[in-house]
Amino acid sequence: MGKIRVTVWNEFRHEKNDPEVAKIYPDGIHNAIADFLKEQGQFEVRTATLDEPEHGLTDEVLQNTDVMIWWGHLAHEEVKDEIVEKVHRRILDGMGLIVLHSGHASKIFRKICGTNSERLKWRESGEKERLWVIEPGHPIVEGLDEYIEIPNEEMYGERFDIPAPDTLIFISWFEGGEVFRSGCCYRRGRGKIFYFRPGHETFPVYYQKEVQRVIINAVKWAAPVNGPKPVYGNYKPLESIDKN
Ligand code: ZN
Repeated sequence: MGKIRVTVWNEFRHEKNDPEVAKIYPDGIHNAIADFLKEQGQFEVRTATLDEPEHGLTDEVLQNTDVMIWWGHLAHEEVKDEIVEKVHRRILDGMGLIVLHSGHASKIFRKICGTNSERLKWRESGEKERLWVIEPGHPIVEGLDEYIEIPNEEMYGERFDIPAPDTLIFISWFEGGEVFRSGCCYRRGRGKIFYFRPGHETFPVYYQKEVQRVIINAVKWAAPVNGPKPVYGNYKPLESIDKN
């Protein structure tokens, strides 16, 4: 098998408008993520951003993407419905999707959930987050300890209005007392989706090794499998049917 082809999509607005964020991610969150993925040597990585034509997600890019990573926050509504449709169809056809942090409110994740996944509690206080691994045998947690601690993060708290995940990988605890389902796996059609909570733009979360490890593992997990292509519709019997 060739390299897994990854497209890191980022809204790329905070980094242009907020000097505090630009200091942490001078080339944008997408490039920070692309950089550590490239270092692995097993991925073919490209980036795409909202303000590019077709948001950087042309048919050619979509057809050549095995796993897409999605970071957005300020401008979810600016993402064109027709592009969301195309991304969704690619997922049903096998493309993996990793939705990060505030991407929970993106059009594509809301479509996958079918619920008001934008609804949750939040607080920007830079408190400690501890993500507990609750599925220690899952490929997404390979190489991790029993928990990950992020010293300063935005809090997201339950209830998070998502459908029950097929597999729940992490539960977060926050210093202020809340908990959150921070690592959620779904399957839709032939595609695999992973929601991963960390990554508020004013903290250097995507430079933390354990967070990078989770994203690397998730890309491998979400990559398409060369399995059978189902046939739908009217179908001839494989055996002769005895009508008597
Ligand atoms: Zn945030």
